[in-house]
Amino acid sequence: MIQRMKKTEKQKNRERKTAEKRRAKLIWHRILELLYPTTCVFCGTVASEGICESCRKEVKILQEPLCKKCGKPVRYEEQEYCYDCQKIIHFYEQGRSLWLHKMPVSQSIYQFKYRNRRVFAQYYAEQMAEQFADLLRKWQIEVIIPVPIHKSKRRKRGYNQAEVLAKELSGRLEVPMEAFAVRRVQKTNALKEMNPSERRRALSGAFAVEDDWKPKKKVLLVDDIYTTGSTVDELARILKENGVQKVYFLTISVGQGF
Ligand SMILES: [Zn+2]
Ligand SMILES: [Zn+2]
Repeated sequence: MIQRMKKTEKQKNRERKTAEKRRAKLIWHRILELLYPTTCVFCGTVASEGICESCRKEVKILQEPLCKKCGKPVRYEEQEYCYDCQKIIHFYEQGRSLWLHKMPVSQSIYQFKYRNRRVFAQYYAEQMAEQFADLLRKWQIEVIIPVPIHKSKRRKRGYNQAEVLAKELSGRLEVPMEAFAVRRVQKTNALKEMNPSERRRALSGAFAVEDDWKPKKKVLLVDDIYTTGSTVDELARILKENGVQKVYFLTISVGQGF
């Protein structure tokens, strides 16, 4: 009886030690994660550079031919603008995105936005700074403004994903970020369900520029996804109304064009 008790005690000890080790490993992993994503932002497998080998092959950065305005892929080399940009006159000058909004990019952004994977911003921002280096030099932006979310949404989610990304990009480009230049004064929900003109109407008056904000000539807007461009457009419109001359944008992903 005593011997069996001893054995269980020994066993318990071993189990405790394994649990402790596992916990320590998990904590260490979390610490590393704060510095840089140690797993692939797309599939979650262990990867030291933010992306694994197989996703590097699978997930391609958008390549020409792209719409000269919004950066959506177009079908033909000689096609200057996508279908949307042929019909709509945008308030912004130009914008680009890293990837097409489909799996596994969409899943990665979902985790970044709703599952607290803020650390992904480092990989996204690194890619943006690298891929759009020439364009950014050409744009000569003076300030980065993240697309704001309504304060109630921010309170609920705990952070604004666009701001997390903009901050990372700001550090890499050495261009200041002004997160509170524009406020979202109206809650707009479920834009997903609306067509472009409905979106425009829903977004009209959604933003307000802070009274004490000093306008810059060239502004870069940063957001997670570009769909029809109505959000970026409404922001560009209001910024220009307040003295900004040129507005550009960068997003992680973009919807399909043609
Ligand atoms: Zn992967
Ligand atoms: Zn376009």
